[in-house]
Amino acid sequence: MSSRDEYDAIIVGGGFYGCLLAIHLRKSGAERVLLMERESSILQRASYANQARVHNGYHYPRSFLTALRSRVNFPRFVADYKECIDDNFDQYYAISKVFSNITAGQFHTFCTRIGAPVEPARPEIRDLFNQELIEQVFRVREAAFDAGKLRQRVIRDLEEFDVAVSLESEALRMIPATESRIEVISLRGGAEARTIAGQVFNCTYSRINKLLVDSGLAAIPLKHELTEMALVEVPPELRKTGITVMCGPFFSLMPFPAQGLHCLSHVRYTPHHEWFDTAGETYRDPYAYCSRVLKVSSFPQMIQDAQRYLPLIKQCRYRGSLWEVKTVLPKSEVDDSRPILLRPGHGLANLTSIMGSKIDNVYDMMDMISIKPPSNTRT
Ligand SMILES: Cc1cc2nc3c(=O)[nH]c(=O)nc-3n(C[C@H](O)[C@H](O)[C@H](O)COP(=O)(O)OP(=O)(O)OC[C@H]3O[C@@H](n4cnc5c(N)ncnc54)[C@H](O)[C@@H]3O)c2cc1C
Repeated sequence: MSSRDEYDAIIVGGGFYGCLLAIHLRKSGAERVLLMERESSILQRASYANQARVHNGYHYPRSFLTALRSRVNFPRFVADYKECIDDNFDQYYAISKVFSNITAGQFHTFCTRIGAPVEPARPEIRDLFNQELIEQVFRVREAAFDAGKLRQRVIRDLEEFDVAVSLESEALRMIPATESRIEVISLRGGAEARTIAGQVFNCTYSRINKLLVDSGLAAIPLKHELTEMALVEVPPELRKTGITVMCGPFFSLMPFPAQGLHCLSHVRYTPHHEWFDTAGETYRDPYAYCSRVLKVSSFPQMIQDAQRYLPLIKQCRYRGSLWEVKTVLPKSEVDDSRPILLRPGHGLANLTSIMGSKIDNVYDMMDMISIKPPSNTRT
């Protein structure tokens, strides 16, 4: 093996988390950093196929910590990625009178406690909603990001910070190379390649356990959902508007700037199937499952239910769906929190598995990671 195949760090997975980690490591002094991505470009999977909401805390009344971290990260993300941000729309959170886990009064108090701007919506906005089902509508401050622009920006940053990027390169498994180094065996252009690094970061999100299990390591308990978000053209009255009905089995309609459309998700109909990775049980590859399973859109059910709260929504025109596997920690089921999973030394020394939770709290990951000085024990 030539010395060119040795790195200080290898990051497997070119989503937003893997890319930002690669840049962070270069900025922190790692000289040779390799980013391995199985697709032909970065940010093709969950970092593209998501709701594009830059969270500002409102979504998480049941997890104060997640809400507060969003509040801290929101201004930073909006400033750092200014050219990728769309905040040229009004964002409203409506509180349902039925089945809601929160009242309008509690929501207002919660926003005040986390310091998030909140005010009653103007009467003409309130009138868009079914007054029998909606208790109160609040105008808030959130933004959307353009996932296409974010991809271009990250490509430029990877170049600027001289990260080696290997596209169409799928990590198959990892084995110890020496006591302190790991060998990553990958498939590149149909041939097996071998690369060694002092530290390996597994940033493959829904597929974290695929790499672990194929390397003979134990799976981390995770919950997966096959999700659908409908892309729609909204009627003119909703064009410069984002709407979320809280807090329970309701829906969100957000601008999706990357396609100039809106994205409709519904707590009940966006998840199609769910399953758990449990150590010792047969493993299911989320990507293989997502690509081969029969996908029948739940858009009709989403619209049917959402129009009870917001009658105008029935004028939305369906333009297609984004399908992706969403992965969360099992504990998030209970309190809807979104902590980052960071698992150092899981099965192999110098291997860290990281699962992003939201785009904007990538900063929380960077605060937790530093590069170790290069080891002298190279093979
Ligand atoms: C339906 C849905 C809605 C969401 N809504 C929001 C939202 O509104 N706002 C928000 O902030 N967050 C949202 N999220 C969460 C957000 O999308 C994720 O937290 C974030 O994208 C995770 O980034 P990542 O880099 O960890 O994952 P990914 O972007 O999925 O990156 C993982 C990468 O690893 C690559 N890969 C996988 N296996 C291998 C391998 N063996 N070798 C090489 N490469 C590999 C993949 O191709 C992929 O590029 C949502 C997620 C979903 C699914």
